[in-house]
This record gives sequence, C-alpha cells and structure tokens, in this order.
Amino acid sequence: MESIEGEPPKAVLFDLDGTLYDLEPVRRRMGRALVLNALVSPLKGPKTVKVLKAFREIREDLRAIGDGSKSLDEAQYAEPARQLGVEPELVRASVAEWMLERPLPYLLSAGRTALRPILAALKGWELPIGVFSDYPADAKLAALGVDDMVDITVCATEPEVNAFKPHPRGFLVAAERMGVPPEEVVYVGDRAEVDAAGAAAAGMRCLILGAPASGPHHVAVETFEEIPNVLGLG
Ligand SMILES: [Mg+2]
Repeated sequence: MESIEGEPPKAVLFDLDGTLYDLEPVRRRMGRALVLNALVSPLKGPKTVKVLKAFREIREDLRAIGDGSKSLDEAQYAEPARQLGVEPELVRASVAEWMLERPLPYLLSAGRTALRPILAALKGWELPIGVFSDYPADAKLAALGVDDMVDITVCATEPEVNAFKPHPRGFLVAAERMGVPPEEVVYVGDRAEVDAAGAAAAGMRCLILGAPASGPHHVAVETFEEIPNVLGLG
C-alpha cells in the first residue's frame, strides 16, 4: 500500500457519489425503476428517461464553465429544457425525483464497508471532515447514516461556488469552511479526471478510490478502510 506524500492532513474532504457509497447497485436499481415507470406510464415514462439523459450530458459540458457568467443551478435545467423543447421546471422536477429523492432508500446498503467507523477514526484524530459534491449532499449523508459525522458540506451549484469539478473553487470554499489551508487538506474521490484534477488545481493532495494505479495528482486506494493508513494516521 502506497502512502500519501508529506505530513498527515489536518482535514479530510470527501467526494460523495461513488466515494462514500458504491454507485453501481444504486444505478442498477434506478435503471430498473425507470424501465418499470416507462411500462406503467407509457407517455410520461420514456420522456423522463430522455430528460435525465440530456441533463446528465449537458452537466458534463457545463464542467468547462466556471467563470460565474451564468448561474449553473439554472443553466443545468434550462439547457436540456431548450434542447428537448420542454419547460425547465419539468427537468428540475424529474432530476429532483429520479436523481435526488428516489435513490435515497438504496444508499445505506451501498455504503462503503466501514464508512462510519473510518469517519469516526478520522474524527478521533480531531480532523474536520467535509464533503464537496457536484450535487446536494445533505439528504444523501442522512440516508447513509453519517450526516452527524460531517462538519461541512459544499455543493457545486450553490451561489458561492457556481462551478463544477474540476474547477478549484468548490475545493477552496470547503477548505475555508473547515478552517484549514488547502495544502493541509486531502481530498478523497473516485474520478481522477475531475476529483484529482480539481484537488490539484486547489493545491490539495488527493486519494482516488478504486483507481487502477496512482497518477501524477493522486494516490490510488483500493478500499475505504485503507484510508487512515494511506494518510499516515494508522
Ligand atoms: Mg464521485
């Protein structure tokens, strides 16, 4: 097992989806629910699938924007609505239902092994714990049963950030909220191209869970349980 370079961190900042829980089983269950929904509502169901697909694709394109020229919270709904010729409210409601609310009951069983004990161990070392995600974090953290372990959350679409990863702004806002300089924060994510790139741009070190190998801006970690040792805390 590789260790992170330098001193152990003074705070740990986590990505949420794919990091605190395994995305695959949740995606499978939501895929089945969408198919069922399309069978039960042959008019509305397939439209929902189209809306969600357009939303996801456009959100990846919006990663390039981070200059504050427009509100990402609005653009993420307005752009797919324009392309599909529907009301932005329909996109917002579909995303809220299918991407934010309906997955919640499936999160707990998909949570990383030893999620809570590892967060408790980090708190035992008196490290502030933060979560920075491109999506709102609070309801998911409650569903995972760890909302009481997390000191601060940051969402990419809140006005103070208004930039998706890998833009560094959300990482910097999180460091400020934790009261720790970015150089002393380690970010833990699951996508090197957004998580490690964004952390590096903010001057943070980074662990990538499940990465095949370490890269220029991250150390690869196989399991969540290894994190304290890799951070030099074990
Ligand atoms: Mg992720």
